[in-house]
Amino acid sequence: MDRWIALRGHLDRVPGGAWLAAALAAAAFVLAFRLSATAAGLILLAAMIGLWAFREARRFVIAPTEDERAGRSRLGELAPLLEALPDPALLVDAERRIAGSNAVARKHLDFEARGQFLTSILRHPDVLEAVQTAIFEGATLAVEYETKVGVERHTRCTVAPVNWGDKPAALLVFHDQTARISTERMRADFLANASHELRTPLASLTLLIETIAGPARDNREERERFLGMMKTQAERMRRLIDDLLSLSRIELDEHIPPSDRADLAAVARETVDLLDGVARERGVRLELKLGEVPVRVVGERFQLAQVVQNLVDNAIKYTPPNGVVVLDVAAAGDREETVARAGRRWEEAGRVSLLTPGPAANRSYAYVRVEDGGPGIDRRFLPRLGERFFRVEREMGNEKGGTGLGLAIVKHIVNRHRGGLMVESQPGRGSAFAAYVELAEER
Ligand code: ADP
Repeated sequence: MDRWIALRGHLDRVPGGAWLAAALAAAAFVLAFRLSATAAGLILLAAMIGLWAFREARRFVIAPTEDERAGRSRLGELAPLLEALPDPALLVDAERRIAGSNAVARKHLDFEARGQFLTSILRHPDVLEAVQTAIFEGATLAVEYETKVGVERHTRCTVAPVNWGDKPAALLVFHDQTARISTERMRADFLANASHELRTPLASLTLLIETIAGPARDNREERERFLGMMKTQAERMRRLIDDLLSLSRIELDEHIPPSDRADLAAVARETVDLLDGVARERGVRLELKLGEVPVRVVGERFQLAQVVQNLVDNAIKYTPPNGVVVLDVAAAGDREETVARAGRRWEEAGRVSLLTPGPAANRSYAYVRVEDGGPGIDRRFLPRLGERFFRVEREMGNEKGGTGLGLAIVKHIVNRHRGGLMVESQPGRGSAFAAYVELAEER
């Protein structure tokens, strides 16, 4: 069908004189054939050479048809309007040819000239049908479709009928919906996960209440034991809700980098003071390695304290009694130097960068590295640390009761600070997390 339309398009362009010449040549050929076959052959040869010359000439001089001339001047008026649209836009005529487009459309749909058929750049049947409907029934339609060239993209295409000269045509405008759809999916996943995490301690609480009210009603000892278990579950719910609120607050202003200044060394000192009691209770010693001078960074003190606390909290949790947790704070240098000094210390360790800041000229960083004497983390789980609700123990089937949000909070805060986060871990030796943020300029 498209080919036939294309052929008709070509035939329409052949000037009237050429048709007359062709008819005369045919008549001459018939006449000559009757007189002499040689003459007829010569005439045929001349006609073929003529045709070839005509084809060659057409390459250079193609007289536009009346329609095309009018179309071009209309396009002159339309082009600035199409270019003004922020989204890709195409004007498709009644023959389904692209009569006009803007630069964004040519870039996104990857084509150059106008005049080709819509089907040569877009084959989605729903869109083609909507174009047909717009042109022949004058209806506006919106079509959503997915494409997958490497990454999955979601597009919404609005197809509206317009008049192009005295013929009907369709205006296609494409809106990229990928970001919206992936945000929606993430929100739905997050809600499902959060509800699931809250439901587990809630189910335990309900069961314990039923037990206390029923079989354990008259047994004081049992009652005390179950009340203790209820407290643990309630505590777990509180921690989850605190972490969830914390995470949502951080995400709210994640796009606004902090402008305050903070002393990373002081933050580490305060964290050690705060968690020393908890560590002692577990038989773990906290060791702080830092110089005398303050380590001034661009950052919000409260959020940086949250980063260090979460890392030290985990380190204490995973270090066995008599073990040591080492906190090391220092100013390093540019990104590569910081990564080398803070995150590559154990030769045989598996290591992953959980967050890397974009390259920035003249930017220096300071780091805090928290090293524990715990069991270490299996290499294959390292890239997943910092994912919300991810817990190695759950993957291994021995749940420990953490929220799985601590490292996600760390990651989001460091991201807000346009910094980086690394982990290196060696089973049997321990794990080390290093966060680095921009060093404040000396004044
Ligand atoms: P939580 O500790 O509350 O479960 P996190 O987000 O802080 O949540 O940590 C996620 C998971 O990463 C933990 O459940 C644990 O499996 C693993 N992890 C974090 N820190 C360490 C560490 N220092 N040593 C071993 N595993 C760790």
